[in-house]
Amino acid sequence: VAPTGNDLTGNDPPPVRIGISACLLGRPVRYDGGHKRDRYLVDVLGPHVDYVAVCPEVESGMSIPRPTLRLVRSGSGADPRMIVAETGDDLTTRMTRFSESRVRALDELQLSGYVLKKNSPSCGMERVKVYTEGVAGPPRKDGAGLFAAALCARFPNLPVEEEGRLEDAGLRECFIERVFAYHRLRALWRARWTLGALVAFHTAHKMALMAHTVVAYRQLGRLVARARELPRAELRDRYESEFMAALARPASRGRHANVLMHMAGHLKARLDHDDRHELVDLIESFRLGQTPLAAPLALLRHHARRLEVTYLADQTYLNPHPSELMLRHRV
Ligand code: SF4
Repeated sequence: VAPTGNDLTGNDPPPVRIGISACLLGRPVRYDGGHKRDRYLVDVLGPHVDYVAVCPEVESGMSIPRPTLRLVRSGSGADPRMIVAETGDDLTTRMTRFSESRVRALDELQLSGYVLKKNSPSCGMERVKVYTEGVAGPPRKDGAGLFAAALCARFPNLPVEEEGRLEDAGLRECFIERVFAYHRLRALWRARWTLGALVAFHTAHKMALMAHTVVAYRQLGRLVARARELPRAELRDRYESEFMAALARPASRGRHANVLMHMAGHLKARLDHDDRHELVDLIESFRLGQTPLAAPLALLRHHARRLEVTYLADQTYLNPHPSELMLRHRV
């Protein structure tokens, strides 16, 4: 199995589609006619995915340029409303209706992830400024953009991140790992999946799950073990939500090192003394922060293939996303 971005059913994989705030691609759709082109998303990740650009404000009929919008909460604590700062016009209903219909349309595109523009009253995922009606003073940073909220409500398992958080190497690697894992899972569901195919999928992701959370790894194992007792729809929904929630838990250096040692254990009897020590030393060096994760992974991959240890060689953990992205050279 070559798991990265591939369809475990053996069919040609569909493209990895990621929704994105249009201004991040360099489209001049911002309130001031500018853009917020993100070099990493466009130049580095861009060649590996198909972007679906959405500008909720322009697509819902607002002009370029346009007046500044803000989220405003009334004193009663109701949901924030979208208000034109200069005039007080309330655009909440317009944006809410647009968002509901746009996310419904996105459903058909089978997105595997979404990157949102931070701080926007439409696209911001979290910590968006919310002003309090009739109160002067600084806003609270506890809101979500109206489009972002509709998106996350409709697709609770979809990997979603803001471009600002993706500047962190760990969060970036975690997000892109989730995108490609979700893509493989959706490919599994799209096929006429069997319990055997689900078991194969789960088996190929065991080490990846362990690196994120051992508790969820065991829970998912129990779910798959009693798969025959559950209705298909329930099994599918529970597996998807628990699998994606597990991968959303950040993988720590310590858990990575434990997984690497676990994998090395599978090879122990087949490696000679020097190879065994080289591998263990490299894992320890990673555990101490002296070498990036990519180094022990490359050696494990090499030995797993050379010795034809299929269970290890097929683990998505060894190959979770396109190697050209070099994401594990920085964690
Ligand atoms: S943040 Fe969202 S609404 Fe604002 S310009 Fe970018 S895509 Fe459009």
